[in-house]
Amino acid sequence: MALLELDGVSKAFGSLKAVDGVSFKVEAGEIFGIAGPNGSGKSTLFNVITGIPFGPDRGTVRFDGTEIQGWRGHRIARLGLARTFQRETSFDGLTVFENALMGSSFGAASQPAAAAREAAAEALEFVGLGAENFGRPAGELSVFQRKCLMLATAIAMKPRMLLLDEPASSLTKPEIDSSIELIRRTAARGITILLIEHVLTFLMSLSQHLLVLNQGTVLALGEPRAVISDARVVEAYLGT
Ligand code: ADP
Ligand code: MG
Repeated sequence: MALLELDGVSKAFGSLKAVDGVSFKVEAGEIFGIAGPNGSGKSTLFNVITGIPFGPDRGTVRFDGTEIQGWRGHRIARLGLARTFQRETSFDGLTVFENALMGSSFGAASQPAAAAREAAAEALEFVGLGAENFGRPAGELSVFQRKCLMLATAIAMKPRMLLLDEPASSLTKPEIDSSIELIRRTAARGITILLIEHVLTFLMSLSQHLLVLNQGTVLALGEPRAVISDARVVEAYLGT
C-alpha cells in the first residue's frame, strides 16, 4: 500500500482550476519530486494535501490508508504528515530553539516536555544549527538558515512524511548543494519525502519518481529521466 495516495484531487479559485483532477501514489521511503512552471498548482497541491489552509474541493487524499481530505491541518499533522512552506516561515520574535520546540511539542509523537526538548535540539543539530544558535532570535538568521530552521521544526515533529515546497528557492549554488545533501540525509532517517522544485536539475538528483504539473493537471509522471525527455514537458518548460 502506498503511504500517500491522491485520487482525482481538485481545487478551484473561482473559475481558475488551480489543481484539476490530480492522481498519484507515493511509496513509503521514497523521494517523490513534483515539478512544473510557476503557477502550475504545485503549492496549492501541498495546501490541499495538508489541509493548510484548505482541503480539496473534490477527490480523495489517503495517508497510510486513512482518508484525510477535509480534515483540519493540525489533525493531519498529528497523523505524521508535516510540511514546509515556499517562503521561509518562522516566529521571528522567538529563539531558534523555541521555534523547533513548537514542532516537537505539536508533532505526531505528542512527546512529553523533556522528550520534546531533546527532539528539538537533535533536529537543530541535524540541520546544522548547533547549540550556539539556540538562543538567537529566528529573525536574525540568513535565508538559508531560516530554511534549515523550518526543516528542523518539521523534523522535530517526528513525521513519517515531509512535504517540502521549493527548498532551494533564493539560495546560492553552494547552499543548494548543502540543501540537496540535507534532504538526502532526511530521507535516510526513514522520512518519506514529497518535494516540490521549480528547478528540474535539483529534482533529478534526488527523486525516484517525478511528476510534472501544468495548469493544474498531471503532464507527465514516472522515472525522472524519462519524464524530462518527454516532449510535452520540454515544451511546458521551454515553449510558450
Ligand atoms: P505554483 O506553486 O506551481 O507556482 P500555485 O499553486 O501557487 O502555483 O498557484 C496556482 C494558481 O492558483 C495560480 O494561478 C495562482 O495565482 C492561483 N492561486 C493560488 N493560491 C490562490 C489563492 N489563495 N486564491 C486565488 N488564487 C490562487
Ligand atoms: Mg509554489
